[in-house]
Amino acid sequence: MTIGLFDDWRQFKSDAGSLGVNVNEDQLKKFQLLLELMQKFNKRASLTSDLGLRDAMHVHFLDSLSLVPSIENERLQAGKLIDIGTGGGFPGLPLKIVLPSLAVHFVESTKKKAEYLKIALKELSLEGIVVPERAEDIAHDSEFREKFDLVTARALGNWSTVLELCLPFCRIGGYLFAQRGENAKMEARKYSEITSLFGGRVYDVISVGTEIGLDSRNIIVVRKINAVPEKFPRKSGIPAKRPLE
Ligand code: SAH
Repeated sequence: MTIGLFDDWRQFKSDAGSLGVNVNEDQLKKFQLLLELMQKFNKRASLTSDLGLRDAMHVHFLDSLSLVPSIENERLQAGKLIDIGTGGGFPGLPLKIVLPSLAVHFVESTKKKAEYLKIALKELSLEGIVVPERAEDIAHDSEFREKFDLVTARALGNWSTVLELCLPFCRIGGYLFAQRGENAKMEARKYSEITSLFGGRVYDVISVGTEIGLDSRNIIVVRKINAVPEKFPRKSGIPAKRPLE
């Protein structure tokens, strides 16, 4: 039995359409199953605090899908994506559902969330690599460093921390798409020197989701121009504890 009323899912599909994302029937079934999995595993894996149907659709699914037009604009839909601090799989999982050609790595240091993600991928019949490690620890590994076309991050911390944790994964010429709140424009301006220090340049700040009632959502798009100095990211925990100002 599917959770949610037929009308809720019809609205979801229509809202996705307003964002510029076509969700087909097979993909819609995956979103329904994902919601069931979240409800089943929420206690065990502390996935989210508020799991009303409407909240999950808006706060998690549609907010994640708001990245799709930007991914398509940069022709990255068959690229290699790494989602840093993915938690319960956001934005990585919804992106993988609607853009199945993306190759997605999910980085999440909390083991029980990472375990849940492995189960979710299997249940949804989706490919994806779950990396149950801290970003700081794997960012110096040649398997990961500067190997990705696209890095995503949602609710990972303050802007300078996000830059330090994410830009090392991005190949030169690749992008970081960071989902930010109402201060995005100010953040992008204020931290432009730190962005350059990590080899990036702000390319765009895109306001998204107002047409479907998402509140103050912005994507900061950073293009990777230069390599990140070897010493970054700093040791585990430091980027969040002592963000560069
Ligand atoms: N992106 C998800 C989760 C946000 S909460 C969403 O938007 O819903 C932030 C998540 O990042 C938490 O699950 C936390 O465990 C993880 N995290 C924080 N710092 C991390 C780090 N340095 N490396 C890997 N994961 C990290």
